[in-house]
Amino acid sequence: MLPAKEAETIILDLVQPLNSQQDAEIVSLEDATERILAKAIASEVDFPYWDNSAMDGYAVHYQDVADCTPDNPVTLEIVEEIPAGYPPQKTIESGQTARIFTGAMLPSGADTIVIQENTQREDNRVKIFASPEAKQFVRYQGSYYQAGNPMLRSGIVLQASDIAVLATAQCTELTVYRRPQVAILSTGDELVTPDTPLQPGQIVDSNQYALASFVKQNGGIPLCYGIIPDKPEALKNAIEQAVNQADIVLSTGGVSVGDYDYVDRILAELGGNIHIRSVAVKPGKPLTVATFDNTCLYFGIPGNPVSALVSCWRFVLPALKKLSGITDNVTPTFVKATTQNPLKAGGKRETYLWGTLEVIDGEYQFSITGGSHQSANLINLAQTNGLAVVPMGETSIEAGTEVMVMQV
Ligand code: AMP
Ligand code: MG
Repeated sequence: MLPAKEAETIILDLVQPLNSQQDAEIVSLEDATERILAKAIASEVDFPYWDNSAMDGYAVHYQDVADCTPDNPVTLEIVEEIPAGYPPQKTIESGQTARIFTGAMLPSGADTIVIQENTQREDNRVKIFASPEAKQFVRYQGSYYQAGNPMLRSGIVLQASDIAVLATAQCTELTVYRRPQVAILSTGDELVTPDTPLQPGQIVDSNQYALASFVKQNGGIPLCYGIIPDKPEALKNAIEQAVNQADIVLSTGGVSVGDYDYVDRILAELGGNIHIRSVAVKPGKPLTVATFDNTCLYFGIPGNPVSALVSCWRFVLPALKKLSGITDNVTPTFVKATTQNPLKAGGKRETYLWGTLEVIDGEYQFSITGGSHQSANLINLAQTNGLAVVPMGETSIEAGTEVMVMQV
């Protein structure tokens, strides 16, 4: 039984990230949200593209207005009006100014903007009542970004803010990593699809749907293999096919010590290299992690629905992220929270208790979900956004004290 942190390290070391060339594809900017950049971006244009005004006002020579006061204003001749989107036609000479609006190009000659609040217009003249600072309110070409410099690095997950940057840089097509393919197999003779009327002894294969949703939420393509009966031949065929097809295989069930738990044996028969057989966490102790020729990472996950999702959140997600090409923050985020309820655990394994994490008065608060915390009870797992961690060796955490909570 490996401690969770050790298992995480082993798993991450086993992951071969997708290749930035062979495993890349081109997407349009419209389709790039949440995709992972496989090639760093630099722009061929400066930003701003040209000197422009940050305010509505007047474009001036700083020297002309360096000594204005309300009692001693300077009067300038307005020679042009420059709205945003129209190039200036004139050069501003000393004693002249151009009426200018936010985002409009700075006319040549001018170097500073006087905001309109400090002026009074009279026909084609304007009085300036306060001196600006030199170069004030001019957004100079290249002052935010100079062409050719690194703009966005590879390995980032593209968010709205990145998309804005890419649009500005006129990157309409981007090289991103392909989405990883994740095969999902549910093992068990008792399983049926959700549209099948239940017979005695049968249960719905919820894991197939939960794991497919988990994979989609995290940028992968689920390959749903459906329900595989507890028959060694059928299981072996399905696993072999999945291992050949997918980057990651997730099977649920059949990894425990029951008479019908065949997964580990089949993995060995198929030439898989088994690295982990169990982890010291509750729920989710039986966890098999195997590799096949460095081309496929296999997770044999326990069948109980809560264990299955907790295993995915805790162990599969870091692997999926790293494999996807993400370079930062692939491990789960743990935050310090105050627990509003007492937390109990067996003490032998690191225990994850599900509930909700919210920020109250600027502090994280954790509330455990009511009802049974057995691994077969998936009903109260709905809307979970945090798993409180009771460390190995501890059996209780009092209400009102600090606990680490894994965000999910
Ligand atoms: P196993 O790991 O195969 O021993 O299964 C442990 C428990 O999880 C049993 O009660 C199974 O019925 C249940 N279970 C296994 N697979 C699934 C599944 N795909 N969906 C829902 N429950 C499952
Ligand atoms: Mg089973």
